[in-house]
Amino acid sequence: MPGNILKVDSFLNHQLDIKLLYEAGKEIALRFKGAGITKILTVEASGIALAALCGLVMEVPVVFAKKHQTSNLDADVYSATVESFTHGTTYNIRVSKKYLASNDRVLIVDDFLANGRALLGLTQIVREAGAELAGAAIAIEKGFQGGGDMVRRKGIRVESLVIIDKMDDEGNIKFRD
Ligand code: 5GP
Repeated sequence: MPGNILKVDSFLNHQLDIKLLYEAGKEIALRFKGAGITKILTVEASGIALAALCGLVMEVPVVFAKKHQTSNLDADVYSATVESFTHGTTYNIRVSKKYLASNDRVLIVDDFLANGRALLGLTQIVREAGAELAGAAIAIEKGFQGGGDMVRRKGIRVESLVIIDKMDDEGNIKFRD
């Protein structure tokens, strides 16, 4: 789609291919085996499906940051500001202090990594909670947008299941080997 947006709503962003997500969850669990993860953190809405399957395989709770202050969200929250890649706007993400603690070792999971803003916002929430960050697992990293490199340069471990080096408006996609 225009603006370097890859449409994946047949299996990840609208219809969900649960069998594929289960395989992705198993692969992510394998890559972070022995990392002592106690909690998975993602952001609504499109990160939830993959995070849920990771949580199932890794047998840890999954928490998703909320983008809206709803009546069933506690007042006492960790929050961060994120610039949206797909919408070109800025929004806050919030996690109740009840669900993230300083003794947690957190794996961040998300569907896409583009400029890295969502990932940085989630990282800030982990830091605010005083928890430890084990790393991030991403389904699709768009390597040409630089977010992955920027986050890795900060010393954060990022595991992406696929990295796209190039894509164009005709639907040609070049994956990194
Ligand atoms: P970032 O913050 O890394 O720039 O962008 C990550 C967030 O933007 C992801 O959580 C995802 O929801 C959305 N996103 C970024 N690029 C794409 C894309 O190419 N396709 C879709 N469907 N979502 C994207």
